[in-house]
Amino acid sequence: MMKTFKSILEFQKEFSTDEKCREYLEQQRWNGTPACPFCGSINVCRFANGKVFKCREKQCRKKFTVTVGTVYENSKISLQKWFLATYILSVHSKGISSLQLANWLGTTQKTAWFLNHRIREMLTDNAPELLEGIVEVDETYIGGSLKNIHASKKEKLKGLDNKTMVFGALQRDGKVKTKVIPQTNIENISSAIEGFVAPDSFMVSDEHHAYNRVGQKYKHRKVNHRVKEYVRKEDILVHTNNLEGYWNLLKKQIDGIHHSVSPKHLQRYCNESTFRYNNREAFQDERFAEALKKCNGRLKYNQLIGKE
Ligand SMILES: [Zn+2]
Repeated sequence: MMKTFKSILEFQKEFSTDEKCREYLEQQRWNGTPACPFCGSINVCRFANGKVFKCREKQCRKKFTVTVGTVYENSKISLQKWFLATYILSVHSKGISSLQLANWLGTTQKTAWFLNHRIREMLTDNAPELLEGIVEVDETYIGGSLKNIHASKKEKLKGLDNKTMVFGALQRDGKVKTKVIPQTNIENISSAIEGFVAPDSFMVSDEHHAYNRVGQKYKHRKVNHRVKEYVRKEDILVHTNNLEGYWNLLKKQIDGIHHSVSPKHLQRYCNESTFRYNNREAFQDERFAEALKKCNGRLKYNQLIGKE
C-alpha cells in the first residue's frame, strides 16, 4: 500500500486522522505483519480498538502499539503533526524554521524546535556503504555571519571566529556525506575521508596540504584553485564543482532559514540537508516513505540539549 500525494494538500488529506497515520506506519514498519518490538515474535493479536497489540509468546505477553520503539513513542504530539513535520522537512526543498513550523502545526515554537531536531536526527544517513568511483572532497565554513546581527552587537562580536567547519565528500552522480570537524588538519581530514570513501577510488580535492597523506590511499587528483583553475581534463575531469554546488545549497538552507546555528546542532542540520540532496530524484511520496522508515529509536530531550 503506497500512498501517493503530489502536494501538501493531498498529503494532509491522506493523513487527516490519527488512524490513517497509524495504518500507514504499521504498513511501513511491519509490511503488514505486526511484530512484537520486545521479542520480535509475529505471534501477536490485535485488540478490538485496533490500536493495541499483545504478544502471545508465553515468556513475553507484552502489550504494544506501532509507535513503541520509534521517535513517536510516548509523545504528546499527535501522529498527524509528526507526519506533517516529517513531510515538510523531508520534502520541502529548503527545510523550515521552527517559527514557521509552529505556525503550520499550531504548536509552540519550543515544541516545533524539538520536533524539527528529532526529525533531523531521524533523517541521519546511517548506511555503511562507502562512496566510490570519483569522489569530490572539500571543506567549508558555516554560520557566523554578522549580517543579521544588530549593529550594536556587531562591535562586540568582531574578530570572533564563530564559523564552524564542515567536511564533505560527494560521489559524482551519487550521494553526499558531511561531517562537522573542529579543524582542517591531517588527522581530522584523514579520518573523515577514510570513514566516507572506499579505498582506491578517485579522490579530487583542492591543493590544501591536509589531503596529501590520506591521498596516498586513493587515486588523488588536485585542482588548483589558487591559480583560478576550476576544471582540468586528465584521465578524469578534475574539479570539485558538484560539491561546491552542494555547499551553496547547504548555506542557503542554514543561513537563509535559520540565520544562525549553534555548532553543537550543526551536524543535524547537515543531515537534514544531505537527506534531501541524496533523495533529490525521488518523488514526494517516496521521500516521505524513506524518511518514515527511519523512525526507529528516539532522541531524548536531555540528549538533544546536551545534558546526557
Ligand atoms: Zn513479545
